[in-house]
Amino acid sequence: MTPPLSGQMMDVPLNLSSLLAHAARHHGDTEIVSRRIEGDIHRYTYKDCERRAKQLAEALIALRVAPGERVGTLAWNGYRHLEAYFGVTGFGAVCHTINPRLFPEQIAFIVNHADDRYVLFDTTFAALVDALAPQCPNVLGWIALADDGHLPDMRTPVLSYETLLGAQRGEFDWPVLDERSASNLCYTSGTTGHPKGALYTHRSQVLHAYAASLPDSMALSARDSVLPVVPMFHVNAWGIPHAAPLTGAKLVFPGKDLDGRSLYELMEAERVTYSAGVPTVWLGLLAYMRDAGARFSSLQRTVIGGSACPPAMQRTFEDEYGVQVIHAWGMTEMSPLGTLAKLNWEQSQRPPDARRALLEKQGRAICGVDMKIVGDDGRDLPWDGVAFGDLHVRGPWVIDRYFRQDGTPLVDGWFPTGDVATIDPDGFLHITDRSKDVIKSGGEWISSIDLENIAVAHPAVAEAACIACAHPRWTERPLIVVVLRPGATLTREELLAFYEGKVVKWWMPDDVAFVDALPHTATGKLQKLKLREQFRHHVLPTALDAGPDCPLTADVPRDSGAHG
Ligand code: AMP
Repeated sequence: MTPPLSGQMMDVPLNLSSLLAHAARHHGDTEIVSRRIEGDIHRYTYKDCERRAKQLAEALIALRVAPGERVGTLAWNGYRHLEAYFGVTGFGAVCHTINPRLFPEQIAFIVNHADDRYVLFDTTFAALVDALAPQCPNVLGWIALADDGHLPDMRTPVLSYETLLGAQRGEFDWPVLDERSASNLCYTSGTTGHPKGALYTHRSQVLHAYAASLPDSMALSARDSVLPVVPMFHVNAWGIPHAAPLTGAKLVFPGKDLDGRSLYELMEAERVTYSAGVPTVWLGLLAYMRDAGARFSSLQRTVIGGSACPPAMQRTFEDEYGVQVIHAWGMTEMSPLGTLAKLNWEQSQRPPDARRALLEKQGRAICGVDMKIVGDDGRDLPWDGVAFGDLHVRGPWVIDRYFRQDGTPLVDGWFPTGDVATIDPDGFLHITDRSKDVIKSGGEWISSIDLENIAVAHPAVAEAACIACAHPRWTERPLIVVVLRPGATLTREELLAFYEGKVVKWWMPDDVAFVDALPHTATGKLQKLKLREQFRHHVLPTALDAGPDCPLTADVPRDSGAHG
């Protein structure tokens, strides 16, 4: 066969530095606004940001950090963290964002596993750094993201970020790096076992930034003022720190104050049009809005992901506040974007209920990501919106192995996400569970997320988690654990009655438990493992009369496998 004809285009490697260089040159005066740890509001521009990112690169090179070595960050969303995103990666080192909400032992494990040379930290984490330093002997230095006047009182000797930058000129020329070289490192906050590292490349991150900016994706634009609530220490704030300079969007960083009032005030002051975060954060913001009778004057769109966005939350944003919710799904191993719920032209002509039903799902794959659902035998399942299966993905911003781990997690070239999903004839993904959270009742699967979504639609319910409880007849049955809104009252019977007509009878929770609070992971997801342990000895009322004449048998469809 004759070889294909070589193209004649410039061979410009995809480097992250090009995104900031573009913003500095073509959106140079666009602002980056940060609520600082110091308490004030800091403002500067993309042009200023690039100069300081270069100063940081020069400072790290002076400290003898070599390309390929890791530099950790323990920091909130702010301009200095953004400088680290570009200053560290711009000369070939790897920016390793660390989640400070993990247990100190997990953080020490991560820092040592990544072999971080230096760690940049916000001064709020001074005590954490003092606890970590003795456990992380290979870290050459801890750099406080502050000037000399704001250095905290610490046992650990630290360097001042501003002093390091002040000694440099910021005239560095970004080198041209191999686009396949490593740029960023993020660890998954798994609920079991040690965290695992996803090591991204310049190429994967630049492609991801382009994909994130597409109109039917996150659709960032130079017309937007963007406030990422999703932390920069969690999967690179879903790529916003890369997509914002790519598009020239104004950036607004909230720092450490993520309560409803602080977010609302910053959104209003900076005319924020666009935001992104996990459902838990929006619970706080919506509660504040309701109590204060506040309205948004500029916010138009928000991306919600990281856990399933309850339809009730989507309705509140859209119907009460006129804010479009974009439901998105992804994971650390995918940089993270996989799917987003946006309608095409034909879908947008459908009746309102049909449109809403689609938008409540996790959506369609972004070009670049391919997905499929497979059954227990590994075979493809149909895209009929009914068949549940294990979700597998592949694409240029999906990992093919974990950092410093032998073997590959891939199955036939696909990454198994650990999520269980349906895909409908529109190509819309609906995540029904993590595979370990799905409730396996008599050989059939019940989606815990669907049952949670119904509970949180009840006006008395603030938050809900559905877990499997042992059952002598069905193996597992659903228990719904709820937190009530302050001052609200609700009985078990009232909540169960609320499910009537919303799910098939055999999906009805067998019991309700009321708690003051639910356990969350460091990234705001429900910690179901902990909850299952907490309710390990819970006896379902249906378990007591689960003999051969178990009343459940009358409720289940005749054709539903073991349930029949
Ligand atoms: P992480 O790697 O910490 O971002 O977690 C990724 C996991 O979060 C996914 O595998 C899903 O289980 C869950 N997740 C993310 N987005 C969504 C969503 N929109 N709906 C349901 N689960 C989600």
